[in-house]
Amino acid sequence: LSELSTISSVSAEQADNAEQRQLRVYLRVRPFSKGELANDENQGCIVLENAEVAVLRAPKESSSMKSSEKGVGQSIHKFSFSQIFGPDTTQTDFFKGTVRELVYNYLDGGNALVFTYGVTNAGKTHTIQGKSSENDGGILPRSLDVIFNHVKGRQYQHMDFKPHLSSDVQYLDSNQVKQEKSAKAAVFAMLKEVMEADSSLSGGEPFQFAVWVSFCEIYNEYVYDLMEPLPTSRNHKRNALRVCEDHSGNSYVRDLKWINIFNTEEACKILKIGNKNRSAACTRMNQTSSRSHGIFSVKLLRIDGKQVQKISELSLCDLAGSERCNKTKTFGERLKEAGNINNSLLILGKCIAALRQNQNPKVKNNYVPFRESKLTRLFQSIFCGKGRACMIVNINQCASTFDETLHVMKFSAVAKQVVQVIQPKPLASIAPRLVGKDGKMLLRHAIVEEEA
Ligand code: ADP
Ligand code: MG
Repeated sequence: LSELSTISSVSAEQADNAEQRQLRVYLRVRPFSKGELANDENQGCIVLENAEVAVLRAPKESSSMKSSEKGVGQSIHKFSFSQIFGPDTTQTDFFKGTVRELVYNYLDGGNALVFTYGVTNAGKTHTIQGKSSENDGGILPRSLDVIFNHVKGRQYQHMDFKPHLSSDVQYLDSNQVKQEKSAKAAVFAMLKEVMEADSSLSGGEPFQFAVWVSFCEIYNEYVYDLMEPLPTSRNHKRNALRVCEDHSGNSYVRDLKWINIFNTEEACKILKIGNKNRSAACTRMNQTSSRSHGIFSVKLLRIDGKQVQKISELSLCDLAGSERCNKTKTFGERLKEAGNINNSLLILGKCIAALRQNQNPKVKNNYVPFRESKLTRLFQSIFCGKGRACMIVNINQCASTFDETLHVMKFSAVAKQVVQVIQPKPLASIAPRLVGKDGKMLLRHAIVEEEA
């Protein structure tokens, strides 16, 4: 890996006032499953000191081999990470060692992106969602706990606010944010109006907060709102959303529903509804959700007196399995799908490689193909300095999956060398659409009561 040694030169003007920060890349090794233990799986990776890990191919050995042939085919590759979390790491320790600092920064107004990378069954969903019901929640519920702890007693509630729980998600179709105006400005103006009319808010008060969340998936280069139930008829297609750009050049998913929530339990409910919609869509298409990218985002609005003063966004992205498809086994729809998914991850890889290369002073600024996939369009502003990013690499430790694990490791080795130049004042990403068709601010969407 010597040829990949870090070069972190960034032009002087870029570096002006900006914080330079190497992209944090964390490795999490999941424990052997019962099945793997029963199969007597060989250990395919060993955690070394100094945040290094060795990946090994199981040696080819059989009783008929001569002793000189034994061990043939064995290979060892070493990789380093910002930090490595072994199979015994608890969800608490993992969160404390990785995402917690990003959440603190987010509470101060910074944007953050966390994404998990790895093959299917490596522990990505466990890392992000975990099982809150079993007190084993992942970084998502834990981040929300930190956020709600911070805003406790300081949440903005409009006079008209009435909790509304029903058995259907209610669609509150909102105004299209006007293209010619900055979307942020439009929403700020609308919020200002509502807040000015609200006598419960007074100028001199300490600031308040509002928390909004959304949950979408990217499948086959289409973005779907997971808060939208599947069409009841199989003949109706799911409603794909467009990725657009606001005037500051930040990409956002147009018409994505944002839901105002007041505690972690509500977020978990939304997660559950979204997961259900996601798996129902997969079942209908005879697919598994491991082929789509799931993005859960949390916007924090800081309301000072009668103005929204800051908006920061935290996105947690559970990427599709990184396994490369076996060409002989994919055909038809499957091939198209596999191709697109590989495309999204492939473009992510290309973007990371180009960002990495651009740090080399000898390289003229390479084109970074952010626009070539939905996923990278949504990641672009964060990678370009409007927030901090962190990558979590999930692997299993089986020697039998050496090739895939090696592939994942090579990807992360490049990512780890990307230096992010974070602007001191991140431009707030686009505000959630808070206005309804009638021009009134939406304070809350309905949250579906869990079905019995
Ligand atoms: P992925 O989302 O990458 O496909 P999952 O998160 O679904 O993988 O994990 C696969 C299985 O392994 C699940 O049953 C999960 O509960 C279990 N698992 C993953 N990571 C861990 C871990 N760190 N500790 C215990 N079980 C884990
Ligand atoms: Mg998963």
